[in-house]
This record gives sequence, structure tokens and C-alpha cells, in this order.
Amino acid sequence: MKKLLKKLIQAETTADKGELAAAEIISAELSRFGVESRIESWDETRANITAHVKSSGHKDALLFACHLDVVPAGDANWSNPAFDAVESNGRIYGRGSTDMKGGIAAIVTAISRIVDSGTKLQGDIILFGAAGEETDSCGTRRFVHEGGSLPELAGAVIAEPTDFEIITAHRGMLWLKVETFGRSAHSSTPHWGVNAITSMRAVLNELENFKIRFERHKLLGECSMSINTIAGGEAINVVPDKCKIEIDIRTVPGQNEQDIINDLQKIFTKLKQKNPQFDAAVSIIREVGALETDSRCDFVKDFCSAVGINKTTAVGFTTDGPFFASLGVPVVIFGPGNPQLAHQPDEYIDISDLKKGVEYYKNIILKFLS
Ligand SMILES: [Zn+2]
Repeated sequence: MKKLLKKLIQAETTADKGELAAAEIISAELSRFGVESRIESWDETRANITAHVKSSGHKDALLFACHLDVVPAGDANWSNPAFDAVESNGRIYGRGSTDMKGGIAAIVTAISRIVDSGTKLQGDIILFGAAGEETDSCGTRRFVHEGGSLPELAGAVIAEPTDFEIITAHRGMLWLKVETFGRSAHSSTPHWGVNAITSMRAVLNELENFKIRFERHKLLGECSMSINTIAGGEAINVVPDKCKIEIDIRTVPGQNEQDIINDLQKIFTKLKQKNPQFDAAVSIIREVGALETDSRCDFVKDFCSAVGINKTTAVGFTTDGPFFASLGVPVVIFGPGNPQLAHQPDEYIDISDLKKGVEYYKNIILKFLS
């Protein structure tokens, strides 16, 4: 399993390099145990993988979902190169070790061991590895779009790092782009132009007092908003005709994305009434709903008993879970690794956690499918 994890880390599946190499590693590993998988590839390097362990039984299938991609190593200094997968002190270091190639290695190993043991299953196991979870959920969108070819599912388990906490709820994500438009001019005669940065300043002033409407959620708390990028202007002697900000909004269940967009548009209308030259637009960069699985449903109860943990919880980060929930399937997030190490320099996973992960996933498979 350690070898598998190291190969997956070394595959360096950032958005630029794509996921195909990792999909091929998983496919080769599963084929050693006679498990067939299908790689769907596009744009040369992007890839999803779906493996299907068929049974002759009549129980509903269990879906394990992962993402193959990782975020870039970043500018910070790593003690060892981020994609070397160095093992030391009972840990494996590298980008993706926790988020979430550790989870992938554990579930692939659990499936291989169950198949290798010859255990007769009463329902199918489906393993899905997605492209692009860290950027635009392109892989899971494709998978869910083709959901018609899936068997009935008892539930979906997302093997993201949760330190073996059972997560049933998380906030949603709405990434917005706001652009202001002006008219460029030579900056020795700025009055002949319309400065898009000045227009953006008016927007930013309004956003200082902007309150997104929401109802506090009992598990997930509040909706949050943060303006995280700004760009505008081309040269020091040109009045800028464009300025752009990007806003990260984390939503709670019950919120409607369109209401937020409408409220922003009302601000623009107000600014245009004050200044007819003001011009702005808002568009969606990315949208993932909130996840809220009923923690009293049978799937969650059985899941808790399979892993021997009786508490479910909610987290602040977002996963592809809501896309699977849109298929009408209960979703839990459960996996090895400390989520606080995700996206950090010197990310690592404890080898003991990987081993625990394999045992947990085997127990989950046996609970639902034997
Ligand atoms: Zn992740």
C-alpha cells in the first residue's frame, strides 16, 4: 500500500499535469486482483476512473468516491520535494498524501484484499476517482451526468481526510467574479476615460456593508464571504478599462445562490443611478451546494455501526459530496489523514492511519455488502 501511495503522489496530478497518470496507476493495481476499471480521458491528460466489482447478490451497491487531483505545491519551502513521496518517521510526505491519495490508497487496498480473499459479496462495489475536484469539479459533474448507468446505491462514501470522523454535513461554495468596465484613455487626460478601478472602489465600499441573507444553520453556522483576488489596469500611463475581483462565499443549506447574485446586481443598479458611467457585471466561477445528509437515516446508522463510531459531525470545507447527493444517495465523508494538513507545505500522512483506513473500509464493505 505504501508503494501505491508513493506512486500516486509521484504522479503529480495538479490541474496542469492532469489526472491520467494516477488513473493508470489505480487501474494497474486493481487489475492485479482481476478488478476491471474504465478510464475516461479528455483534453489529453484529464481523467476519471471508475472500477466496478460486480456481485451476484441483490443488495444495493456501495459507492466509494475520491478525487485524483491535488493542489499545486505552492511557493513555500518544503523540507523534501513535494512530489518525491519521502517516507520518514512512520509518515509519507508529499502533496496529496493527506488530500487525498492516502484515502485512495486505503480504499484501493481494502477492495483488493476483499476480492483477493474470495469473500462472496451480495452487492457491487463501485470506486470512482474524479478529475478536477480542487478546481471545478469537472470529473464528478461528468460522472453524475452519466448517473443513469449506475446500479441502485445504498450510499456513497467519500474517502477525504477526516481523521476518521464521520462527516455528514458541510457548507456549499459560491465563487463569484465581479468585473467593472470603463473606457481607456491616455492617463495625461484621464477625464477622457472612465476608470474601472475607481468603479471597483465604489463596489468595494458597498461590499464593506453588504450582508448576505441567510438563516443560521444548527450544524454549519453562518454563511461567510471573502474577497480574495483583485486585478485591474494594464500600464501605468493608461486609464484602466477593466477591473476584476473574485469572491469566495461559503453557503449554508437553505440559501439560494441566485438571491445573492440579485442582491449584488441591486448594488450595481444603485451605483449606476449615482454615476451613469458606472458599469459592472457579476458571474459565477464555481458553485457547489451544501451537503446535509440526515444523520438519523439507516445508511448513516449502519455506517456508524460498521466503523464503531457513534458520532457524526460537520466541517467547514467543501467536497464533491453534494453532486452525489443530487443522485438521491446518502453521502458520508470518512477517511484517513488530518484535514488541517491539506493544501499545506510538508503535507504528510501517518502510515498507521493508512492501515487503519484499510481496516475501516473493509468493515464498511462487509457491513453493507455481505
Ligand atoms: Zn480533497
